[in-house]
Amino acid sequence: MDRIDFRSDTVSWPTPAMRAAMADARVGDDVYGEDPTINELEALAAARVGKEAGLFVASGTMGNLTAVLTHAGRGDEAILGNDSHVYCWEAGGMAALGGVMPLALPTDDIGRLDPGAVEDAIREDDPHMPRSRLILVENSYGGKHGYPLPPDYFAGIADIARRHGLATHMDGARLFNAAVAQGIAAADITAHVDSVTFCLSKGLCAPVGSVLCGSAAFIHQARRARKALGGGMRQAGILAAAGIVALNEMIDRLADDHAHARLLAEGLARLPGVRVDVDKVRTNMVFFDLADDVGLSSEQVADRLRETAGVWLGTNGPRGFRAVTHYWISAADVGVLLDGLESVLARAEEPAALLAG
Ligand SMILES: *Cc1c(COP(=O)(O)O)cnc(C)c1O
Repeated sequence: MDRIDFRSDTVSWPTPAMRAAMADARVGDDVYGEDPTINELEALAAARVGKEAGLFVASGTMGNLTAVLTHAGRGDEAILGNDSHVYCWEAGGMAALGGVMPLALPTDDIGRLDPGAVEDAIREDDPHMPRSRLILVENSYGGKHGYPLPPDYFAGIADIARRHGLATHMDGARLFNAAVAQGIAAADITAHVDSVTFCLSKGLCAPVGSVLCGSAAFIHQARRARKALGGGMRQAGILAAAGIVALNEMIDRLADDHAHARLLAEGLARLPGVRVDVDKVRTNMVFFDLADDVGLSSEQVADRLRETAGVWLGTNGPRGFRAVTHYWISAADVGVLLDGLESVLARAEEPAALLAG
C-alpha cells in the first residue's frame, strides 16, 4: 500500500498472490452457473461456515439484503440491533427495496441483544400486526469495539427463533476475525444461524466481494433475489480467484492484526490526552477518545496526523476515533501512529500552519 491507513480494513489492497491468481483465473458465465472459479469459491466458503451452499455477491450489503429478501416478504418484520450495520449503514435497503420493517432493539456493551427483549418483541399471529419473520445478528460487532461474540449467545437467539418459527441471519462481515479471536472455527459460530454473509474484501484483503451461505434450498431462492438486485455477474471468476486465496491463506494470520490492535491500544493507554478501554480490544478495531482537556476536535487531530506523520485515521464523532488494523499495517506502523499522535497532542496549542511548516 502507498500509505499507512488505519481508517478501515476495507482499504486493504489485494496481496501479490491474489493478483497472480486473478490474472490466471479460469472463467465462464456465472449467471449460467458456468464460472468454475466462482463455483469453487462458493463451495469453499460454504465448507468454511458449515453450510450446504454459497452465493458470491458484490458486497456485504448486497449479501445481507439478498438474505433479508429471501427470508422475509413485504410487511414482515425483522428484529435487529439499533446500532447494527444492517440498520445503520446499509441505506435502509430492507425497507426501501424489500418492504421489510426493521424492529431495532438496543444492544449491550459488546453488541448482544437481550434475549428476553427479543422474545417479547416477537408478535402474536394477529392480522393487525406485521408478521415477525427474521432475527438479524452480527459478529464481530462493529458498533461495539468489533467485539467477537461467543457461540452460546447465538445458540440462545437460535432457540428463541426456533420456538417461534423465525429465521436467523448473521451479518458476519468480520466473522473470521470473531472466530480467530476466540480460537474456534467459524462453523462453530454459524452453526446457530440459518444464513450468514461474510466479507472477502475487509481483513481478508480481496479487492471485491462477499459470500452468502445457507442451505441449498435457501441459496437457490437467494440466487433470484441477487439477480433482481442486479447482482448477477458474468466472468466474475476474476474476482472469486482472489476470494479463494483469501479463504486459504488469509484467515489464520488475522491473529497478527489482533495483536497489532492490542499493541496500539496498550500504547494509547499510556498517552496523556487519550482514553481507551484496552480490555474491549479483542479483534482488529481500536476505538478511543480525546480527553476533555484536549483543545482539538478529532477531525483536527486526524488532519494534523495525516500532515505531520502521513498516517490516516478514522474519526468517530467530534471527540472519538476508530483505528482498524489489517494485512498492510505492521507493528512499526503502529509505532508511527503512536509517535505521531503523541507529538500532535503535545503541540495541540500550536496553530496548524506552524506544524505543517
Ligand atoms: C462492512 C460491513 C458490512 C457491509 O459490507 P460492504 O461490503 O461494505 O457492503 C456489513 N456489516 C458489517 C458489520 C460491516 O462492517
